[in-house]
Amino acid sequence: SHLLRRTLGSRYLANSLRGFSSASTPIRATLFPGDGIGPEIAESVKQIFLAAEVPIEWEEHYVGTEIDPRTQSFLTWESLESVRRNKVGLKGPMVTPIGKWHRSLNLTLRKELNLYANVRPCYSLPGYKTRYDDVDLITIRENTEGEYSGLEHQVVRGVVESLKIITRQASLRVAEYAFHYAKAHGRERVSAVHKANIMQKTDGLFLKCCREVAEKYPEITYEEVVIDNCCMMLVKNPALFDVLVMPNLYGDIISDLCAGLIGGLGLTPSCNIGEGGIVLAEAVHGSAPDIAGKNLANPTALLLSGVTMLRHLDLHDKADRIQNAILNTIAEGKYRTADLGGKSKTSEFTQAIIDHL
Ligand code: NAD
Repeated sequence: SHLLRRTLGSRYLANSLRGFSSASTPIRATLFPGDGIGPEIAESVKQIFLAAEVPIEWEEHYVGTEIDPRTQSFLTWESLESVRRNKVGLKGPMVTPIGKWHRSLNLTLRKELNLYANVRPCYSLPGYKTRYDDVDLITIRENTEGEYSGLEHQVVRGVVESLKIITRQASLRVAEYAFHYAKAHGRERVSAVHKANIMQKTDGLFLKCCREVAEKYPEITYEEVVIDNCCMMLVKNPALFDVLVMPNLYGDIISDLCAGLIGGLGLTPSCNIGEGGIVLAEAVHGSAPDIAGKNLANPTALLLSGVTMLRHLDLHDKADRIQNAILNTIAEGKYRTADLGGKSKTSEFTQAIIDHL
């Protein structure tokens, strides 16, 4: 039933892009295969989307080998223009090359495209046993500021400073998105995760903004949870939570914890919501250098991110078909990748999903 709820709820969210799917010409979407396992799992997405006859034409962009002065990073200006134009895209993991001064690739994307909220759903997969079978959580991470503002410097030798920026504007925007999401998806509770007892000014302002927005949504239960206590409660009983909203760094950490509750990073998708209706879906995980190039990666997280993208495009039939094929393949248990205890290669698992379409 929670699967159905998610499906119905996401229909409501497909507002700014509604109408795209009725076009007879294919929808153009940007694809960043990314680094490490990125190209392997992106290939899996392309093959499965093709087999399911998804009417999408990919505009593929790779990370450049030189810094583009217009983006001050290895991401090309053309690739950003592609997302701005298409308003929809799918992104593989990216590693920021170490060396000359430049901006982190993920930071560049978030800032340039104003990707203000990162939505990370995490739910127990039917037929895949973990300690819990009732996980159904949504982490909504503020994506543009907080501890990831990129403002770090040396004060004097041996002392460095990193600035955590919290603004009223970004906090209200992400809180508004969280409550809107909760309402649209028939969810009952929003928990703001914080450490305002220590970070009184920054997390204090974040909480103040959440409270302001909560007042506009009397039908949603609002609560505040200190991050350390939240971690303990999530591990003990994840069913205590529903939608969680939090500053940037906490969201990064909590969503990995949540991934661990359901079977790992190979399974958890995410979606970046940007200003002007931009939707850039991506897996929660990184480039997994330990298994890159070995045909071992689990493409599920990127595939489910692609499914989220399809829902934003109002392509629910295709999204349902692909999502069911993934879940049924995993539930059946014959073909699973190594992270889920199986023996299948990425390509074999991909073929099994195609056979389940
Ligand atoms: P990681 O997520 O790449 O890997 C952590 C562990 O999970 C590894 O053991 C890996 O093998 C496993 N794993 C991850 N995805 C998997 C998948 N699809 N299938 C099977 N196993 C999977 O985290 P890391 O090692 O800390 O980071 C590696 C690089 O990725 C770093 O350079 C980091 O900056 C980058 N990164 C990028 C993003 C992004 O682009 N959004 C996110 C996180 C990390």
